[in-house]
Amino acid sequence: MKTISSPSAMQRWALTQKKAGRSIAFVPTMGALHEGHLSLVRRARALGDLVVVSIYVNPTQFDPKEDFSKYPRPIQRDASLLRREGVEILFHPANLYEPDASTWVKETDLSTGRCGGTRPGHFKGVTTVVTKLFNLVLPDVAVFGQKDAQQCEVITRMVRDLCLPVRLVIAPTLRERDGLAMSSRNAYLTPEERAMAPALFKILSAAAARPATSRTVWARESLAQVGFRVDYVEECGSRLCAAAFLGKTRLLDNVSISPETRPSKKLRRAAR
Ligand code: AMP
Repeated sequence: MKTISSPSAMQRWALTQKKAGRSIAFVPTMGALHEGHLSLVRRARALGDLVVVSIYVNPTQFDPKEDFSKYPRPIQRDASLLRREGVEILFHPANLYEPDASTWVKETDLSTGRCGGTRPGHFKGVTTVVTKLFNLVLPDVAVFGQKDAQQCEVITRMVRDLCLPVRLVIAPTLRERDGLAMSSRNAYLTPEERAMAPALFKILSAAAARPATSRTVWARESLAQVGFRVDYVEECGSRLCAAAFLGKTRLLDNVSISPETRPSKKLRRAAR
């Protein structure tokens, strides 16, 4: 695995590979890698000739009160995990912004509610950095995690609206044995909070199986009852999405609505 830190060197490498007819599969991350990230890397492996993973803690997607400076950056450990996965390029830039940068990419519909409501400017930072990364890595395909459901929606819309020449693949959420969605921010939880955290997935899963009229209210009340400070619980298309705080840590998760009501394979076969 080669580590590239210069943006222009990254773009030169990508152009050379494209000229040689090799396809590039890309996984953007902020590092502090866990099995969830590695599952995206394995998916990317199957989708392109070459796999590029970026690690960049993007300052523009944090708001001033947030955890940018204390976000974990275990780069040696991350690099060795990626080496073990057979990744060709780790793109690890120190900085992607000129001091007087004044050009942004902003999605103005899907990014406004939920996480966009609580974290103003967050998605503008995400869409801008993802566009920059796409322009440097020139991927044929990019893999994102379903765990960040709104991010997937916003980036899908951006790629469509701006005609970006990249195929997006959304990969399922990897979970700890007790159901907690893996996240770099889980490291912030105290032992007591960590013990409470799996309730987010459990409550969302139970809510998803309830009638549409009561599921969000029920989920909000149940989360509050077990000690979460609820940011939002909302239905978004076929998913029930939530963000909730344990102490200072904001956890995100989403589940498919009523998978239980989907007929079993056997029933579907019988209906054909
Ligand atoms: P992050 O480093 O948190 O910005 O995440 C980088 C990518 O990994 C994003 O596409 C996330 O949605 C994805 N990701 C984060 N956690 C998980 C998880 N538990 N399972 C699958 N993908 C994940």
